Amino acid sequence: MPERGRETPVLWLERVRSEDIDSVGGKGASLGEMTSAGLPVPPGFVVTAETYRWFIEETGIAEELFEAVDVDADDSTALADAEARAEELILGTDMPDGLREEILEAYADLDDGEAFVAVRSSATAEDLPDASFAGQQETFLNVTGEDLVERVKECWASLFTRRAIYYRQEQGFAHRDVDIAVVVQRMVDAEKSGVMFTSHPSTGDDRIIIEAAWGLGEAVVSGSVSPDNYVIDRETGEIIEETIADKKTMMVKDPETGETVEREVEADRREARVLDSDEIERLIELGETAENHYGDPQDVEWALVDGEVFMLQSRPITTISDPEAAAGVTDGSGTFEEQEGSDGSMLMKGLGASPGIVSGPVRVVRKLDQLDKVGEGDIIVTEMTTPDMVPAMKRAAGIVTDEGGMTSHAAIVSRELGVPAVVGTGEAASTLSDGQVVTIDGDKGTITEGAAEEETTEEDRLEEIRPQNPVKPMTATEVKVNVSIPEAAHRAAQTGADGVGLLRMEHMILSTGETPDHYVEHHGADAYIEEIVNGVREVAEEFYPRPVRVRTLDAPTDEFRSLEGGEDEPHEHNPMLGYRGIRRSLDRPEVFGHELEAFRRLFDMGYDNVEVMLPLVNDAEDVLRARKLMENAGIDPEKRSWGVMIETPASALSIEELAEAGIDFASFGTNDLTQYTLAVDRNNGNVADRFDELHPAVLNLIGEVIETCREHDVATSICGQAGSKPKMVDFLVNEGVSSISANIDAVRDVQHEVKRVEQKLLLDSVR
Ligand code: PEP
Ligand code: MG
Repeated sequence: MPERGRETPVLWLERVRSEDIDSVGGKGASLGEMTSAGLPVPPGFVVTAETYRWFIEETGIAEELFEAVDVDADDSTALADAEARAEELILGTDMPDGLREEILEAYADLDDGEAFVAVRSSATAEDLPDASFAGQQETFLNVTGEDLVERVKECWASLFTRRAIYYRQEQGFAHRDVDIAVVVQRMVDAEKSGVMFTSHPSTGDDRIIIEAAWGLGEAVVSGSVSPDNYVIDRETGEIIEETIADKKTMMVKDPETGETVEREVEADRREARVLDSDEIERLIELGETAENHYGDPQDVEWALVDGEVFMLQSRPITTISDPEAAAGVTDGSGTFEEQEGSDGSMLMKGLGASPGIVSGPVRVVRKLDQLDKVGEGDIIVTEMTTPDMVPAMKRAAGIVTDEGGMTSHAAIVSRELGVPAVVGTGEAASTLSDGQVVTIDGDKGTITEGAAEEETTEEDRLEEIRPQNPVKPMTATEVKVNVSIPEAAHRAAQTGADGVGLLRMEHMILSTGETPDHYVEHHGADAYIEEIVNGVREVAEEFYPRPVRVRTLDAPTDEFRSLEGGEDEPHEHNPMLGYRGIRRSLDRPEVFGHELEAFRRLFDMGYDNVEVMLPLVNDAEDVLRARKLMENAGIDPEKRSWGVMIETPASALSIEELAEAGIDFASFGTNDLTQYTLAVDRNNGNVADRFDELHPAVLNLIGEVIETCREHDVATSICGQAGSKPKMVDFLVNEGVSSISANIDAVRDVQHEVKRVEQKLLLDSVR
């Protein structure tokens, strides 16, 4: 590491080069790289890794800090204590005056100290390749003035989250070898903004596409406004096609609070052209610079303020280049050629829970300490997955379980991770053996002997040349995505979804292996709250500023029973009709209060894209009581977006009074709404053929709710599995639903289906 030490506490982005990564971390280096490529990134600086090092050494806390975090990784109490102690040491130690002044001086050089800045940790550690897994990704938006100094320290403290400590202890990395940098960058108060594809994103040909709208880029990226669209011939620089859209709304920064708010566009600018030819020319020039620099077509986010263009982000328009992956067949083991040819005989059948065909050697996992034997490309075979298995599930090429249905943990998680899975085989863990090579088909639900022959179909070939980030069809109905595990956030965001329609909080809690009560009792309420904050933040950050609808805890007692502390859960005759959702939260306001406190902290951090959703409500009384508790927790329901799930016939029939209670949205949980309307237990195989989300009775309730909500200006959405089904999409768009949230792998199809139905409606209306 270069010995800059105290002499260079901050490095301006224009001086950063990619080889400075040890000093400035990954984020800092990438912004420096863009700057050095001649791209105008918003000004800013990096508080270098050496500065962090100097701080802990100079103030004398280093030794105590490293000692405090050197704990047994399997002892969760010790981990929580270590995190708390590290935070106490770093946040409780004053920034030495000289350093404080230097950071504030650098800040003062941005807009004479008036700037709103984003403050982000930038992981440097080469030995911590998966910093996001380790939870090391603090971000603070709209920071001003002296607050900056505290935020920098908070970024430093993020080096010692429980997960980061655990990860390093497990990997045998020394805490003292790891540093952290902090990027401080001016937030751009854009007058115009948008995106640009430097080559045509579908065909890769020489057409540049620019989308532009008034105000901040959030509106374009999130799809809340239809932007102008300009298609430009790259050879001649001529505009060959342009569509000037009716831009009804724009996002602007509230000058008082710094928060991003939506505003109506003045009448005379609504249909006005956003970009003049000089601005387009400048954008093309910058797009070419970016493409030449990186060597690939780029997808660029840009912003324009006072006639100046800024590039906020540039990333490749990725195409699938691995033909094996494109063919849906991967040689999981990496020793494809050496293996015995497949005899293709069917070994067993289960439910195809996550699509894709994959071959690889079996690793039977019976106990958690056997997870280490699962390597890249192996097939995990287990009775039932648990949240502790997620890191191994990420590594695996495929997943097979004995138990579980389409809404089991294994099914939801594998779909989100994009790992093929077959669940509910009944016998895999006891009949398959370690090292045996099998092929699993996550569509058909089959497991066959040996490795699959690779075959490429026409569809696969098309898939190969199709970009992964195509321009999504612009639709009036928003298409969002469901996320259950924060680890899937990145993949989910790449679908181009308009936000997250359902983030289930219970998976974050289940992944601790403890019930909320047990966790709080053993690690304290604050640790519990932070567990939620960290999980939600990972998703909110990835999607920002697209909205992320987070549902408060909804786990039936039988799901809690397998966790530590689960023995204290009540035994219930029918957990589905029992102590879960809002009814449990209202009965246990102290536990619910921790969840609400997590929301409050997220809002305070600037994650104004987070929304609160209440599960399993029946009537206005449920909602008003929850609303009161939100207020008690310091959340202003007038300022934040919050709403309910419509999962019981009672809630659907009470929609008018729910709307009057002040909700902003109602989201159909069709998994439960179907089960309760038809009296068909969603987990009972004997009546599975009667589980029909498209049953006229269910559709009737949904249709009525949409109509009433429209009258009360309440947005409607779906976040049950049925939102991924074309027939349901068809019905909902016709009824005028505001948004549809689908599984990650269905988002693209749903976007196209929505477009198709909307176009048909449009045509019908003019006929
Ligand atoms: C639903 O009921 O449709 C829903 C989305 O909630 P869950 O599946 O978590 O019960
Ligand atoms: Mg539900």
